[in-house]
Amino acid sequence: MASAPVRVRFCPSPTGNPHVGLVRTALFNWAFARHHGGTLVFRIEDTDAARDSEESYEQLLGAMRWLGFDWDEGPEAGGPHEPYRQSQRMEIYADVARRLKEAGHAYECYCTTEELEQRREAARAAGKASGYDGTCRELTAEQAAAHRREGREPIVRFRMPDEPITFTDLVRGELTFAPENVPDFGIVRANGAPLYTLVNPVDDALMEITHVLRGEDLLSSTPRQIALYRALAGIGVGNGTTPAFGHLPYVMGEGNKKLSKRDPQASLNLYRERGFVPAGLLNYLSLLGWSLSADRDVFSIDEMVAAFDIDGVNANPARFDLKKAEAINADHIRMMEVADFVAACEPWLQAPHAPWAPEAFDAKAFEELAPLAQTRLTVLSDITANVDFLFLDEPVEDEASWTKAMKPGADALLKTAREKLADADWNAEALKQAVITAGEEHGLKLGKAQAPVRVAVTGRTVGLPLFESLEVLGRERTLARVDAALAKLAA
Ligand code: GLU
Ligand code: ZN
Repeated sequence: MASAPVRVRFCPSPTGNPHVGLVRTALFNWAFARHHGGTLVFRIEDTDAARDSEESYEQLLGAMRWLGFDWDEGPEAGGPHEPYRQSQRMEIYADVARRLKEAGHAYECYCTTEELEQRREAARAAGKASGYDGTCRELTAEQAAAHRREGREPIVRFRMPDEPITFTDLVRGELTFAPENVPDFGIVRANGAPLYTLVNPVDDALMEITHVLRGEDLLSSTPRQIALYRALAGIGVGNGTTPAFGHLPYVMGEGNKKLSKRDPQASLNLYRERGFVPAGLLNYLSLLGWSLSADRDVFSIDEMVAAFDIDGVNANPARFDLKKAEAINADHIRMMEVADFVAACEPWLQAPHAPWAPEAFDAKAFEELAPLAQTRLTVLSDITANVDFLFLDEPVEDEASWTKAMKPGADALLKTAREKLADADWNAEALKQAVITAGEEHGLKLGKAQAPVRVAVTGRTVGLPLFESLEVLGRERTLARVDAALAKLAA
């Protein structure tokens, strides 16, 4: 029998800034949908007015676009299950909650927070399960009315079946949850606001989601959602099937602690601002729980989509390794077409990243050196320091570089180098020969001889290949900078 077409969802809550865990979840859902020729639903879970913000919503959309993800249904794309923002679906949830109550799957619970807390403490002290104890499960109409007269406002609580819930997780295999570990849970607040516990599975049912791929932190909500699904099928909400669940492994950060969304290391914006390229970041994030093959860490997003399936996802926690992320990003920068690389560098060649005056920028000079920079960058933001010598009036002053390169004897070497450079044809090969010859006169190998020249001209001991840099900078500016360094040494 042909299985139903794949329908997956990415359903973040718009709180705070997007983080890498979220991106990994989006990536795996997107790749799964594309691999199977299925549908990706992008849904915004914004039912928590106190925590959700429009700014965060805009950031989420911006992040999805920057990463290159497309979605088949959702904000801007529209679709048959509109609207895709839960804040606009409140009537649907109220109606479902009412029907769940009518069918006996849910009931009004009048217990106050203090009462619940007291009974939980008592149960704990007695060594018993400490979840909701069922006090309001079988309230009579009179009891409920009496509670109301006391001014109590009920929440709506879902009635869990008194039997274990078993399901086969697509990542971790068969799992069973005993009823005492999954007590009845709230689905609507006393003020009528529906909770995540209700709206998430209701929308998954209505939107006919076939596979729920999400972080392991949500595993404990799965037995409740499965029970709710069954109840929804009973009252005719959705198409009556329960999606398959796959829980993606935890991501561990520094010190082998779970990477939390508040960790600075977890912020997507950080990677964007440092100049990670989407292909590099996604390649790296795909390795958090998955691999293309044992001997290949670097691949394109198309290769990932072709190979990705949920049964290849590993249940073990994954470790976030910044060094590896950077190395993979560097590989992706190298793999770009030069023209794409030049275009991608643009933000870092302007204010506020670039320290030079806008009119000082020379696109042609930059393009000449770009291929040399491309093979050396870890992140695109490194480009600024690599080419600033071209566009600043004077090289940056880096004290450490100066001290390191301008040892006793540097002035004599620089003088000779200046003479040879002044006489040389202005091309990299001839300039290199000039510095070699100057070095020989002072008993210095090229490496030692070029260091003072590099610092005189670029301000730094490390940078792009020196002689190509001098060629692009030009004779006049190069010699003027060597003169300035000589003057400084003589002062
Ligand atoms: N809005 C939920 C969250 O961001 C979605 C959880 C889920 O994927 O079911 O945590
Ligand atoms: Zn109660």
